[in-house]
Amino acid sequence: MTSNKYIACHECDLLVRLAHLPEGCKASCPRCGYTLSANHLNAQDRVIAFSLTALVFLGLSFMFPFLTFSAQGQDRTTMLLQSITVLVTENFTSLAILIFITIIVVPALYLLSAIYVYVSLKSSRFFPGTRALMKLIALLQHWNMADIFLIGILVSFIKIISLADVSLGLSFWSYVFFIVSMTAAALHIDRHQAWQWIKEKENIPVLPAPINGLHQGCHVCTEIADVQKKICDTCSAYLHVRKKDSLQRTWALLITGVLLYFPANMLPIMHTNFFGEETTNTILGGVLVLWEHGSYPIALIIFIASVMVPIGKIIALSWLCYSVHTQSKKSHQQKTQLFRVTELVGRWSMIDVFVVVILVVLIKLGNIMSIYPGWGVVAFAGMVIVTVLAALSFDPRLIWDPIGKEKAV
Ligand SMILES: [Zn+2]
Ligand SMILES: [Zn+2]
Repeated sequence: MTSNKYIACHECDLLVRLAHLPEGCKASCPRCGYTLSANHLNAQDRVIAFSLTALVFLGLSFMFPFLTFSAQGQDRTTMLLQSITVLVTENFTSLAILIFITIIVVPALYLLSAIYVYVSLKSSRFFPGTRALMKLIALLQHWNMADIFLIGILVSFIKIISLADVSLGLSFWSYVFFIVSMTAAALHIDRHQAWQWIKEKENIPVLPAPINGLHQGCHVCTEIADVQKKICDTCSAYLHVRKKDSLQRTWALLITGVLLYFPANMLPIMHTNFFGEETTNTILGGVLVLWEHGSYPIALIIFIASVMVPIGKIIALSWLCYSVHTQSKKSHQQKTQLFRVTELVGRWSMIDVFVVVILVVLIKLGNIMSIYPGWGVVAFAGMVIVTVLAALSFDPRLIWDPIGKEKAV
């Protein structure tokens, strides 16, 4: 069944007439394959249920012991919030703030906003601020790193399993259930569908098909808008045909990323004190130690996440910017796919930062064995953030511009 509803693809700007989607179906862009919209089964009820469950588990993960570390007859039990307070006492406040925001504040805000928006959509009265919170949800999803923190915990276990006994507390399991429920909620949130419901509730009229393909797609709510308009009718975001100064900003952030890459690799990421003897570890040094001890899979994970992914991401984005500059008319599909992969894997480089944080928090047995953070880890975290920002600044629609705007399909 076709309708008069048009949508401009978020990644290639093709104007597509969107059919009415039955429950359980999704619509993809015929040119670049981007998922334009997905109509999940019982999306509203499920988002509310999963988000509430996730919030309860997040709350529980503060109340009980998180991890217990025992070595040389000494035990050390830590709570989740200690992973932040220990860093503050070691004068790594910037890192503490970053960890607090990415593993607790952002996920909690994301879940609260999702509950508010979807309860508002279900109720007969439309709550104030629903549109602002829907915009916040889209923004927060790039900075939610709770799932990476969990993988970081597992990697650190394997690193220290030969040194000591580690046991998982009740709060650890609450944190696992929190991640699972939050992922389930996120999978049911479809930006296009949610804005359609908001539009219906607010009686915002549907725009007719634009003449000669002259349109601009709102990058916040995915609706199409008149090229002459400055503000989107649906979500009140500022409209622009392409992201403003996309290439310049991406280049500037990539250069900053390259500059941070050197201190991140040259400075130690942690100092280990073992029976009074102090050793320092750089990222590559840590990978080599793991390799020598025969922990090949973990050495590979850390090598790929901390060394290959950042370099690969910087090279890929630089190449995409260069091909936009040269107005290349080749392999658009592959370039879009490369951009998608870059956007998806970029934040996973944070694993090594989380591993260092967990080791620093857990291993504090005075002179027997203690681990302290090094400034390399701060430079590394800065580099990951800068490259995530670089990917967000890049407008993938620029890749398709040389072949011109096509007519609606
Ligand atoms: Zn597309
Ligand atoms: Zn909009």
